[in-house]
Amino acid sequence: MASTPLDALEIIDVYGPHRSYPSGARLDTGVEPDRLVKTHCCFCGQQCGIQLKVKDEKVIGFEPWADAPFSKGMLCPKGVRRYLQGSHPDRLLTALKRDPTAPGGFAPMGYEEAIARVAAEIDRIQKEHGPDAFAVLTGASLTTEKAYLMGKFARVCLKTANIDYNGRLCMVSAAAGNKKAFGVDRAANPWSDIPKTDLVWVSGANIAECAPITTNYIWQARENGAKIIVVDPRLTPIARTCDLFLPVKPGRDVALFNGVLHLMIEHDWLDHDFIRDRTNGFEKTAEHVREWTPRRTAEVTGVAERAIRQAAEMWGTAGSSFLLHARGIEHHSHGVQNVLGAINLVLASGRIGREGCGYATITGQANGQGGREHGQKCDQLPGGRDISDPEHRAFVAKVWDVDPDSLPGPGVDAYEIFREVDRGRIKGLLSICFNPKISLPDSDFIARMLDKLDFYVAIDFFLNETARHADVVLPGSLQEEDEGIVTQVEGRIIKINKVVDSPGDARQDWKIIQDVAAALGRPRGFTFQEPREILDELRRASAGGTADYSGVTYEKVERQGGVFWPCPSDDHPGTPRLFEEGSWNPIAKGAGPFYFLDGRAKFHAAEYTPPAEDVDAEFPLMLTTGRVVSQFLSGTQTRRIGPLVDQYPEPRVELHPRLAAELGVADGDWTVVESRRGTCTLRAMVVTTIRPDTVFVPYHWAGPKSINRLTISAQDPISRIPEYKVCAVRVARAPAPPDYEGRLEPQQ
Ligand code: SF4
Repeated sequence: MASTPLDALEIIDVYGPHRSYPSGARLDTGVEPDRLVKTHCCFCGQQCGIQLKVKDEKVIGFEPWADAPFSKGMLCPKGVRRYLQGSHPDRLLTALKRDPTAPGGFAPMGYEEAIARVAAEIDRIQKEHGPDAFAVLTGASLTTEKAYLMGKFARVCLKTANIDYNGRLCMVSAAAGNKKAFGVDRAANPWSDIPKTDLVWVSGANIAECAPITTNYIWQARENGAKIIVVDPRLTPIARTCDLFLPVKPGRDVALFNGVLHLMIEHDWLDHDFIRDRTNGFEKTAEHVREWTPRRTAEVTGVAERAIRQAAEMWGTAGSSFLLHARGIEHHSHGVQNVLGAINLVLASGRIGREGCGYATITGQANGQGGREHGQKCDQLPGGRDISDPEHRAFVAKVWDVDPDSLPGPGVDAYEIFREVDRGRIKGLLSICFNPKISLPDSDFIARMLDKLDFYVAIDFFLNETARHADVVLPGSLQEEDEGIVTQVEGRIIKINKVVDSPGDARQDWKIIQDVAAALGRPRGFTFQEPREILDELRRASAGGTADYSGVTYEKVERQGGVFWPCPSDDHPGTPRLFEEGSWNPIAKGAGPFYFLDGRAKFHAAEYTPPAEDVDAEFPLMLTTGRVVSQFLSGTQTRRIGPLVDQYPEPRVELHPRLAAELGVADGDWTVVESRRGTCTLRAMVVTTIRPDTVFVPYHWAGPKSINRLTISAQDPISRIPEYKVCAVRVARAPAPPDYEGRLEPQQ
């Protein structure tokens, strides 16, 4: 059993989250560092350049990296405080085993003993229940080398089909939509095209808080005369500076895209040459959007008909444009349809693959892009290859020197892994850099499934809320304790540099995985001595795939200020603009810019379906969730950084003054938010920047403050992304403060 050994408060007392503040050398700006190391921020997909200050082999602060190619010295509040997680009092310095008699419920254990125990449990479970009974959950913050190794470890060492990653909660709808429309999944253009465009369209992206540096690119475009359209249920900071704001109802984006395409066709705001020469499927899509009249679009989306017409005219008549979207349209049970609807607008305009004419999803996690390309996704092999394709399997098996038939087939997605636990088919779990108890929807179910596991081992550098259920915890490494590549939001591969060694018994994650392989008696293929060797194998395994990294070296990445994939050979500079005429394309081979045999992109009839759980008399409001600028994902790191906690200490329920008045709720009141799955009592934040039929709560917190106890586990049938962005709730003024008030600190 993997239930928590003690009450949460007793675990928190020892393992946190506690807050770290600057002190000692970190507070004294006069301390001269021993060295400055150029690397990148550990948090979001913007991957800003930063220089970490090192004194006595500890990270004590930072300096901006003024000429970093993407971020040019800029950092958001998270970036400037990231150094405070080094030498943190909560840092795991030894392996741990569950022990209800030990302080905090866990007792230190020797590293070798821990590895032996993990190997013995994996062996036992797989012998008793088969290879697929042991699952692996990984993270998109891992370097690409580690992500690649995790995929290989699952398929070659454990021979389990069941590996998936937390990018499943992030970019998979965009990835699936891009593959269906373009045959490849990557930002089509570098961000340097944004300031060169006439019109920026932003759908479902709270850019200032979730991708802060992109704000600068959009504002440069505005300075150059561009217009900005923002579509969002909330008047987010970027929306407050736009020319046209469309306050769409959560879950209705595809209807809006269809309505705009309807008007583009009606007014002949189309690039006929591009549609004829570069695409397939326009006629069927045009027929499909015929029913999306402005009136019907307005009824479904909640956006005024006049605003829809204005958006269509601005988009339809623009000379150049850049469309950006993010989780706001992707976190839906029809997230892929939303993405396809957005892409239809781009294809109808013909504005892609040229300077100032672009399209992209904004990746969320540090290595959201690279982490999904090289084999930790349940259906994918390195190079963006398909695990169900015999040729792809044979190619990768040859690089790995194994029989193709020995490779498992596709596994199940991250959420389905827990349903398989419920069905009794998965008995054991290894997780790394993933905190599903906070980040998966309907999270009380996840907690019950963690309790049901026979054996659970977590690799992490802090004891996150999920790891509290573990039998064994292995102490992993912080980003600055290892080197490797990640692929940031534009598709640009950058280099993470090692700054300091891991403390105590903590190890670089790839070493831990190789130690488990050795303890299982299966070291073959897991004897790398350094990340560079893993990259060398990854380069060979990706060669010829859509995500071709075969020409990527650390030296080239450093020399060029990053390399955009595909980069198919040592003398290839990389591909900043993916669909530019003449760009390297291993599928079309000159037939056209897109990654299909005929080189043409595909229109799709993007289907509108209502959210999986719409409002009704019992639950009359829509709940939507997201991030705040000072926190990141499940908060494992950022809830331990004092100044970031102080900036936005606890989750609050955003609601419109009109709704607040109806409910008799004032700003700051304790408020109960309830769905069919759970209840949260949080303070109200009355704001005019949200639709009156919608409430918003950020999701970074744990336990009684975790809004994912309320969200729904409905998933997109193609991408398997959960529907975080809309479910039905009711809200009321709380009769009394919650039990946790006064017992838990804000971050706990
Ligand atoms: S969190 Fe993102 S935007 Fe902020 S500094 Fe880090 S990489 Fe840059």
